Amino acid sequence: AREIHLTEYPKGEPTLDTFELAEVELPEVGDGQVRLETLAFSVDPYMRGRMSGRRTYVDPFPLHDTLDGAAVSRVVDSKHDEVPEGSLVLSQHGWRDAAVALGDAVRVLPELPVSHTHFLGALGLTGFTAWVGLERIAELRADDVIYVSAAAGAVGSIAGQLAKHKGATVIGSAGSDAKVARLRELGFDEAFNYKTDPPKDALGRLAPDGLDVYFDNVGGDTLEAAMHYLNNFGRAAICGMISIYNATEPPPGPRNMSNIVSKRLKLQGFIVSDHWQDDFQTFAQQVSPLVIDGTIQADETIREGIEDAPQAFLDMLSGNKQGKMVVKVGE
Ligand code: NDP
Repeated sequence: AREIHLTEYPKGEPTLDTFELAEVELPEVGDGQVRLETLAFSVDPYMRGRMSGRRTYVDPFPLHDTLDGAAVSRVVDSKHDEVPEGSLVLSQHGWRDAAVALGDAVRVLPELPVSHTHFLGALGLTGFTAWVGLERIAELRADDVIYVSAAAGAVGSIAGQLAKHKGATVIGSAGSDAKVARLRELGFDEAFNYKTDPPKDALGRLAPDGLDVYFDNVGGDTLEAAMHYLNNFGRAAICGMISIYNATEPPPGPRNMSNIVSKRLKLQGFIVSDHWQDDFQTFAQQVSPLVIDGTIQADETIREGIEDAPQAFLDMLSGNKQGKMVVKVGE
């Protein structure tokens, strides 16, 4: 099988040299195991944290060894009673084109009239992250004004559309005019390009009555601006801080933390994996019909072939894509 390995723990921005393509021999399929052929796998921002060489809330990736990440695969051989041959499964065996896995460690996917790649995005980890942030962390209400950063991305585009579906007034920011136009098509009430129109100016203009909720994917100056415009008792779901993932030194925090006291703000970070057990089924029941009937558009950018995975990862980080970035490796 072919796999992508890590060659180094990059300081600052990773490059193509951070990765290598390797050939490995797969073991025979033993009792309780399945052989998987990968159809598509996910490249995600949290993987940058796993390339730091330090433990955060997950272990670092090993060097020159098998990486993992979410993948949708077809079962081509099974010695597990509950995972039939031919079924499509979700596993953590990404970054490779085939794998031998424990049957207990894969989830057989439901048969739904959607592209299987959506189980890596809108109906998978990223869609669920959007739902948890809105429902469980920010406790979004229909009369809220919400701002979503990195809004054209995998999490942000679903968060914005779910918030709109709930009746909230939704403002989004993204890094190009084409992405901003797409946010308007997706039903965002207001959208702006943070590269040409900084949040500290744009939010004052686009949210004249202030913000009730901030869905933070970015951190840094964007969080500082959102805190400035949050109303009394405002809530922020702190989902990610992509603006600092390549930083070599911890950057200065928002300078206006005193807002938390004076405006009685509630900022809460969260990690989606804490919520699988309690909430994934509820999410899937609520959101699958909305993706199937097109109420929620699951935008994605698909790259072809395992060789292109490193470039796909770099483009995901820098914004050279729309919606969820997925690497397709099989039919
Ligand atoms: P995206 O699809 O949103 O891809 C990341 C995007 O962030 C880029 O494409 C880019 O788009 C934008 N970006 C990059 N650098 C900056 C910057 N300096 N300032 C503003 N925007 C920037 O990724 P995901 O949707 O998968 O993830 C979004 C966030 O959610 C990340 O922070 C991630 O870590 C977090 N996350 C958290 C989880 C949790 O459990 N807490 C789970 C999953 C994701 P653009 O063109 O707009 O700049």
